[in-house]
Amino acid sequence: MTVKRRVTRKVRVGSVIIGGDAPVVVQTMAATKTRDYEATAASVAKLSKFGAGIVRVAVDTPQDAKALAEIRKRVDANLSVDLQENFRLAENVAPNVDKIRYNPGKIGFLEPELSWEKKVEYLVDVAKEYDCALRVGINSGSLDPEKLREYREKLGHNDADPAPASDDATFFDPPIRSALEHVDFLESIGFDRYVVSIKDSDPETVLMLNRRFAALKPFVPLHLGVTEAGAPPRGILKTRAALEPLLAEGIGETLRVSLTVVADQKEQEVAAGKTLLENVANGAVASIADLNKTGLNIVSCPGCSRTESSRFVELAHKIDDATEFARPYPLTVAVMGCRVNGPGESDDADVGMWCGGDRVNLKSGGTSVGTFSYEEVVEKAVELLKEKISSMK
Ligand code: SF4
Repeated sequence: MTVKRRVTRKVRVGSVIIGGDAPVVVQTMAATKTRDYEATAASVAKLSKFGAGIVRVAVDTPQDAKALAEIRKRVDANLSVDLQENFRLAENVAPNVDKIRYNPGKIGFLEPELSWEKKVEYLVDVAKEYDCALRVGINSGSLDPEKLREYREKLGHNDADPAPASDDATFFDPPIRSALEHVDFLESIGFDRYVVSIKDSDPETVLMLNRRFAALKPFVPLHLGVTEAGAPPRGILKTRAALEPLLAEGIGETLRVSLTVVADQKEQEVAAGKTLLENVANGAVASIADLNKTGLNIVSCPGCSRTESSRFVELAHKIDDATEFARPYPLTVAVMGCRVNGPGESDDADVGMWCGGDRVNLKSGGTSVGTFSYEEVVEKAVELLKEKISSMK
């Protein structure tokens, strides 16, 4: 099968090109502690050699930024960093990376007196000074609060209302509006060295949002991914169902397959990304219909430098096995690896967990049930799930 790729603008990230007529770039992320720069440099080198065109590293503190400088000295790879609330870290990381991701949903938190436009102008200035590209990274788990508020108001929804179904015409409103707003602003200030990602943990949503954005801004390179896809093989199947149809339509210039695997197995993400591209080239395109959309949905983050316990990945795999009995039921179980994104991202699940160093925080429908040891929590989560299933009968 010959895939007719759309031709977007080209964006250079270090030694690779995203977009234009360049091959799709497979990315991954190191999950070692960034401050352990020897281990992280070794991981980046291994992933890069394995075929990752870009490797992301988590940087949350000035200490991490210093470690990044050590990593840069030790390894010749295209590096990227994602900024959380602290957009000011950009100037610390930019000298040692090739791409910086910012999240329009989080850029408002630090220095709220400053407009988002001023903050983006600052990021653009830093990117230009240090020869970096930017990624506008929209994530359904952390959308721009103002966009969410406006959208709920428009619908007459309040916070207690359930999220609209994906066939609701307004479903796309906040993520697409956020992406368009940032694209239009970057264009208005003459900056074109950026890509956009619009991620969600639901493959169908990823498919629809990216299709829609690609139709609206066909010149902007897209970074594709399903966030919190979970452990393999389920995480690979979810990602295939969203990304292969997009790639077969010519949409997507770079991608990451996020998998819940331990730090020294991250090459599985690269291998899965390559396989996915081969599948599309061979016409073996997965579809949303291949997924069990009506049954149990398990979401788990891929883990990264912020993961607080090495037992997180093992727990995610145990939960996967222990919830086999609940497969037919339309419930969501979430397992997250840290307190940075875990508490928020586990709120939407029927049974949610976010992992601390020694204890796991368990939630039922967003309400805390308590903290439990890694040994206890599987049984507690299963009990909760059984209660929910009983109340459905
Ligand atoms: S939830 Fe935390 S540990 Fe998991 S990928 Fe996100 S930042 Fe990393």
